[in-house]
Amino acid sequence: MSAPLPHLKDLAPDALRARFAADGVPGFRADQVSAWLYGRGVEDPAAMTDLSLELRQRLGREWRLRALEVEAVDRSADGTLKGVLRAEDGALVEAVLIPEEERTTLCVSTQVGCPLACSFCATGALGFGRNLRTAEIVDQVCRMRELLPPERRITNVVFMGMGEPLLNLRNVVEAVRLLLHPKAFAFAPRRVTVSTAGVAPRIPDLLAQVPVNLAVSLHAATDVVRNELVPLNRRFPLDTLLGTLRRLPRLSRRHPVFFEYTLIEGVNDSAADARALVERLRGIPSKVNLIPMNPHADSPYRPPSPEVASRFMGVLVRGGLTPTLRRSRGGDIDAACGQLAARGRRGAQAAAGGRPKPSREV
Ligand code: SAH
Repeated sequence: MSAPLPHLKDLAPDALRARFAADGVPGFRADQVSAWLYGRGVEDPAAMTDLSLELRQRLGREWRLRALEVEAVDRSADGTLKGVLRAEDGALVEAVLIPEEERTTLCVSTQVGCPLACSFCATGALGFGRNLRTAEIVDQVCRMRELLPPERRITNVVFMGMGEPLLNLRNVVEAVRLLLHPKAFAFAPRRVTVSTAGVAPRIPDLLAQVPVNLAVSLHAATDVVRNELVPLNRRFPLDTLLGTLRRLPRLSRRHPVFFEYTLIEGVNDSAADARALVERLRGIPSKVNLIPMNPHADSPYRPPSPEVASRFMGVLVRGGLTPTLRRSRGGDIDAACGQLAARGRRGAQAAAGGRPKPSREV
């Protein structure tokens, strides 16, 4: 049996130019193909009318141009759209579109399941399936934008879906290059955010390669609590993680770190927790997104009352931090933060791919 055809969408425009050049096809042809695929959303080579007939035929014969198909779409009462997308091997991944007045944000996944097993996260409970290839990451943008009405377009992309982006760094970086490249999706760098649970040594690697916003899922200001919530903390404890952030070049009030802090009743929501957070983050230009825990069947944790959440926020404000209390969207369709786990549809299959591994093996 012959090897499967390569995916065009695995290659950002510069890599595609190089690849075409090696095949004797001029570089500007690669840019034309990128403009069709990403600019115009056309995936049928026969419709790429400014290419030569020969190149159109070669593209159809020698390459794959589509990596994901829509399996299901759930619409939330608040307008949030969750897409369940199917890869060629049957793996299912989720992407969530969040239309707001000023912007439309797409949340993309980077892995099938996740190996980090954070104790409050539904994806963590699934275990790890596999890394997504670059084409499967960017095809989430292609499939989901087709669901928008013509007057709306995706303005922001956040890598906050299933999986840990920094454990799939190479494919994530190539996907980000496609998002940012003027010949591809052409997003401005400040409209793309990569979130990590704290794979400290790979944070400088990521930012040295692509100029994205960095979000860090902190959730606790002490190692005792963070070990419990994010087992990866045993490997990269707070001193290591925050030390890495302090040493990043180019952090400033205009380029802050975005910290995510999921508020969990009785676990990390006390005034003392808030004061500890103020102390810990001193000197790091940051914004703190407080997210009330989205309860789900795989976790005993609950969100705090609104009073407790605003008390927590008040302590941060008085301590000089810049917190926002994020309203959760898409809760009625399991599209809220950390709920991407399409149980029933995906559960059995991702679980077959592997159980949560101890963070040491990561
Ligand atoms: N692995 C990366 C990317 C996932 S981002 C990371 O951890 O940053 C998804 C965000 O939602 C993370 O901040 C995660 O900690 C948070 N989250 C997960 N489960 C949640 C839940 N049940 N309620 C609220 N936030 C949750």
